[in-house]
Amino acid sequence: MESLSNRKKVVSDKPMTFVESLYLPAIFSGMMVTLKHMFKRRKTIKYPEEQRVFAPVYRGMHVLKRDEQGRENCTACGLCAVACPAEAITMVAAEREKGEENLYREEKYAEIYEINMLRCIFCGLCEEACPKEAIFLTDRIVPTEYERNEFIYGKDMLVEKLDKRIDITKRQDTGKRGAV
Ligand code: SF4
Ligand code: SF4
Repeated sequence: MESLSNRKKVVSDKPMTFVESLYLPAIFSGMMVTLKHMFKRRKTIKYPEEQRVFAPVYRGMHVLKRDEQGRENCTACGLCAVACPAEAITMVAAEREKGEENLYREEKYAEIYEINMLRCIFCGLCEEACPKEAIFLTDRIVPTEYERNEFIYGKDMLVEKLDKRIDITKRQDTGKRGAV
């Protein structure tokens, strides 16, 4: 077996020259790297002022759609929650009352509908499972928050606004389209 004294020394402790001891060559080569990158095209963008154009297959924040008369499509059947591999969806169903026909399309609706965006993996299975064309993933980005519970989106965040209908036809991957 090779003794320790016979082993080749790999780390040399060479004394620095005068120029090296001024650190000028090291500073200069560091500045050269900085200069080189200053004139390169930036790979980052100033989000949220600037936003990237996403691929048509991008899946972002969900929307709970309304029908052409503005009524909520969701009937709280729960199939999306069952299909969700991340167990991100919870809901409470309720019966439609007399006089609420203009709010909900069918007799049942989701009184509470929540998606935990920290659990969601944006797989789109909820969209695939929905028999009512009620839930879709859009190209909207889920904004950052400071508190975990702010990532639990309720109906106020998910149901599309009557005056801001969302065109989900921009998404091209599933072939599944709902009425705007
Ligand atoms: S996109 Fe996937 S993970 Fe997210 S809520 Fe829908 S089924 Fe669950
Ligand atoms: S979004 Fe669709 S699948 Fe989910 S509860 Fe509503 S109707 Fe059922």
